Amino acid sequence: MSYYEEAVERIKSIDANLYIGISKKRYEEVRSRGEYEADSILIAEYYRRVGVFLQFLSIEATSIYVGMDMLIGYKMDENEWDNFLIKFPHFKEIDIMLMKLFSIHYLRWCSLLDSGNLIALQFPDIYDPMIKLFERGGGQISTHHHELVGGFGAFSRTIDARRGNMKPFDISDHALKLIINEVEHAETCLAQYKRDSRTEYTCIRCGSRLLIQSNITEYGYQWYKVKCESDDCFNNNFS
Ligand SMILES: [Zn+2]
Repeated sequence: MSYYEEAVERIKSIDANLYIGISKKRYEEVRSRGEYEADSILIAEYYRRVGVFLQFLSIEATSIYVGMDMLIGYKMDENEWDNFLIKFPHFKEIDIMLMKLFSIHYLRWCSLLDSGNLIALQFPDIYDPMIKLFERGGGQISTHHHELVGGFGAFSRTIDARRGNMKPFDISDHALKLIINEVEHAETCLAQYKRDSRTEYTCIRCGSRLLIQSNITEYGYQWYKVKCESDDCFNNNFS
């Protein structure tokens, strides 16, 4: 199977039912806190891969709207959006501009790979984290002012080449599942804490103590830190 054919298959299999009508819902009605946490890892890994590519091209930064092929001189066709909807009619029901744009860029990148483009062939999987995000139901992303926003929080709309200096994020299904489990575990511990004020639990990543601290802002807003005692382990804030 060519890169392009594989891309067509992946986009065709994105389930429109995951996305129909969700723009009217609040983020927390669509996905769990743990799923959003896993989504943010996929986006961070995409930014990192783009960062590595930018460093390779000696470009300082790019926008999330820009396709990787455009960074090496290619241009989108005028009727690209119309043709996309003809080829993938299920996307007519998905009212998320960025999902369509990323899918178009992904297809164009795969065409370049099939044509044997030597630059593209060094970065064959650059779009994989974003397509995986859409396949898993995390595609409700949009831009607001200078940010890419979603239930995960926000990322800058500009992707800086320095992102490429980060350590690769593990985006295997297993690693993403673990992230979701950890957040669910923290939520369970927090619910227990709210019942009986017990502050000590066990971290499911490393087995050390997982501690809950209650905090209050100067405006009287109550929030909780759930943190593992080990360095660089679970550390998340909850309301
Ligand atoms: Zn831990």
